Amino acid sequence: MKKIALTGGIGSGKSLVGGMLRAKGFVVIDMDSIVSSLYEDEAVRKRVIELFGSLDRGEIASQVFAQPGKKEALEQLLHPRALTELRKRLLGIKSQELVFVEVPLLFEAGLEREFDAVVSIFAPREKRLERLVRRGMPRKDALKRMHFQLPEREKVKKADFAIDNRGSVEETARQVELVLKKLTDE
Ligand code: ADP
Repeated sequence: MKKIALTGGIGSGKSLVGGMLRAKGFVVIDMDSIVSSLYEDEAVRKRVIELFGSLDRGEIASQVFAQPGKKEALEQLLHPRALTELRKRLLGIKSQELVFVEVPLLFEAGLEREFDAVVSIFAPREKRLERLVRRGMPRKDALKRMHFQLPEREKVKKADFAIDNRGSVEETARQVELVLKKLTDE
C-alpha cells in the first residue's frame, strides 16, 4: 500500500481533489477531521481549557493567531496525537494499492516522512482568496491563516507531483488522472 499525502495552502483545492479521489473509490483520510476528533479526548479537553480557557474553536483560533507561544503549545498537544491516530487508521486499511491523506500543514509539521509520495495542490493566492471569500470566509481570516503557511512555490518544489488548480474543475480532474496514472505505473 502506498501512502500519498495531498497538501497545499488553505483554499488550494485539497478537499476538491480529495473528493474526486473518493468518487473514484479511493480511501481518502482528512487530517483536519482527525484533529477535530482529538477534542473528544478528556485529556486534550482539559489541556485546551488550561491553555485557552475555552473549547470554542473560534476562540482558540483567535488566541493562536495573536500569541505564537499558544500556537506552539497547541501543536505540542495535538500533533503527536494526530500522528498516532493517523498511523492507527492507516494500519486498519487493508487491500488498497493507494491511500490518500489530506494534510494541510504537511511540510510545516515535518510529516512528509510518513508518506511514500506527496502531491502539492496549488493556485495563485488571489484565486484562493476569491474562492474562500465566495465560500463565506472573511478575507482577513484567510490572510491570517496564509501567513502561517509556507509559500505555495516552496510546497511545489518539495513535492513529488503538483496539481495546478487555478483553472476549471475539469482541468484539475485531468491532472488528477495524470497523477494517478504515474502513481499506479511506478
Ligand atoms: P482546501 O481544502 O485546500 O482548503 P477547497 O478544496 O475547499 O480547498 O477549495 C476552496 C474553495 O474553492 C471551495 O469552496 C471549492 O469549492 C472552491 N474551488 C476549489 N477549486 C476550484 C476550482 N478549480 N474552480 C472553482 N472553485 C474551486
